[in-house]
Amino acid sequence: MSGLRELLMVRPGGTRLADIDPRSTPGLPGKRVVGGDPKRWSQTQVAEMSEELNTYQERLFASAKEGGTNRRVLLVLQAMDCGGKDGTVRNVTQGMSPAGMKAVSFGPPDEQERRHDFLWRIRRGLPPAGHVGVFNRSHYEDVLIVRVHNLTSEDVWAQRYEQINAFEAEETADGLTMVKVMLHISKEEQKKRLLARLDDPSKHWKYNPGDLAERARWEDYQRAYEDALNRCSTTAAPWYVVPADRKWYRNWAVATLLRDAFADINPQYPEPDFDAAAERAKLLAAE
Ligand code: ATP
Ligand code: MG
Repeated sequence: MSGLRELLMVRPGGTRLADIDPRSTPGLPGKRVVGGDPKRWSQTQVAEMSEELNTYQERLFASAKEGGTNRRVLLVLQAMDCGGKDGTVRNVTQGMSPAGMKAVSFGPPDEQERRHDFLWRIRRGLPPAGHVGVFNRSHYEDVLIVRVHNLTSEDVWAQRYEQINAFEAEETADGLTMVKVMLHISKEEQKKRLLARLDDPSKHWKYNPGDLAERARWEDYQRAYEDALNRCSTTAAPWYVVPADRKWYRNWAVATLLRDAFADINPQYPEPDFDAAAERAKLLAAE
């Protein structure tokens, strides 16, 4: 088990994003371990952790079979545009069985979703028993973009922090393990990545002209993020801030956080309800 969670965890009330350097690499082992090529080291580490994660995922799935448990794991990813949510998901879930996964992206709510409470579509998106879920954006958008753009009145969004905490406490008490990660990039890094999207026609589909308007509200977003992180980092469901300008660090850190969460749960294969030796003998004796 690593001490990375301790290093990256948001202590309620005490986290200022301006104090966290998006290019930093907290918890990275020293040069003697990592060597001269940290990118390659990270790739190897992430590949190894993927194997561990896949085994954990299978055991989680097996342990929930036939109503065994209601254990579920959910990775929540939040970031500014170009923060690397998709790349992170691709890296840390490489090789997981799609049958045991549920990945959901949350965009602006559609007409049906708008008729319900903001948590309605979130509840529907939760992973079922035994599954690993990934939220690409989440209910936190309802205190981020909604707050920055006044999409509801302050009376409404200001109550949501407590509503979110109550919702998460209820779900974690019911077997959900949440790993909530903010990928923290710098404004300069976002500019680089937006330019890369514009300069490469095969990336144009990822570009959205509205991203520039969001970028212009950078400071408002940082403040909204800080409030969400500080008010909704709880013992049951803590927030982690992962410096994310360096993709190789980001991948290593998120894989490690997920691996550590699984190690706590340590799901086990269920005991078979048949006698394997007797079944084997029957199989061999038959045609
Ligand atoms: P990429 O980073 O690759 O651009 P993305 O996550 O930004 O991916 P998009 O489809 O471009 O995906 O954007 C989704 C948009 O939906 C974001 O701007 C987000 O703020 C917005 N959104 C998500 N939830 C809500 C919500 N509850 N209310 C309003 N807007 C929301
Ligand atoms: Mg976008």
